[in-house]
Amino acid sequence: LHLKQRNKRCAVIGGCGFLGTHLVEKLLDRGYSVSVFDILQSRELPVVNFHQGDLCDKQALLPALKDVSLVFHCASPPPGSDNCALFERVNIQGTRTVIQACIEAGVERLVLTSSASVVFEGKDIKNGREDLPYAKKPIDYYTQTKIEQEKLVLRACDKEKGFLTVAIRPHGIFGPRDPQLVPILVDSARCGKMKFIIGDGTNLVDFTFVENVVHGHILAAERLKPDSPICGKPYNITNDEPVRF
Ligand code: NAD
Repeated sequence: LHLKQRNKRCAVIGGCGFLGTHLVEKLLDRGYSVSVFDILQSRELPVVNFHQGDLCDKQALLPALKDVSLVFHCASPPPGSDNCALFERVNIQGTRTVIQACIEAGVERLVLTSSASVVFEGKDIKNGREDLPYAKKPIDYYTQTKIEQEKLVLRACDKEKGFLTVAIRPHGIFGPRDPQLVPILVDSARCGKMKFIIGDGTNLVDFTFVENVVHGHILAAERLKPDSPICGKPYNITNDEPVRF
């Protein structure tokens, strides 16, 4: 493939999810040709090259990565699950498989959707920077596996080999087709469960509009070049100020 054509070919792993579908739509708008890899096929997905499979299966991944120069990895089991083995298998082992498959397929850039919770130790963080240490006591097992996943992806960045990586860390994502955040809040309010305050009402939490999260991913991908300072680094992504919650 011509270099320019190849640079515009990307794959979105988890492209049927909430963030994934928004990312796919924006990539198509920007003239990318997009392959989607997901364990489930969504009916809402626009016209793309769809590959169904489990990201833990390298042989299933490879066809989706053929002739692709850029991969977005935004697949994960739902954070609310209590299946530790699944988090370990998909977020840690599966991410190793994704990295191997990318290298084997000749992918040049990998953008991971990480999470801001990787640095959360239970205390409010305001204007937190990316050099905060990883949480020593992550809030749950999902977060523990997101930490390991982020480390794996960032350590795999290798300019010599021509494989560049970056991680984007959003917190609560809201926007059209959000399956979790706002619907769960609304349901809880309807059931009268919003009358309690944990703490003194000054706890902070950060929400980011899905299109801003998508924008952060695409900016990172398009700036991921061998001479760029973003190689192998994580970036927090936020709307602006956190809100009191
Ligand atoms: P989502 O559940 O809507 O989408 C995840 C997608 O991954 C789904 O389509 C699912 O089918 C797919 N998937 C799961 N396991 C898979 C596997 N083994 N193989 C292939 N595909 C698989 O979740 P989302 O809210 O869009 O989250 C996307 C990413 O953003 C995740 O990595 C999540 O950790 C991260 N994140 C989300 C939020 C948020 O508020 N939604 C906040 C911070 C970080």
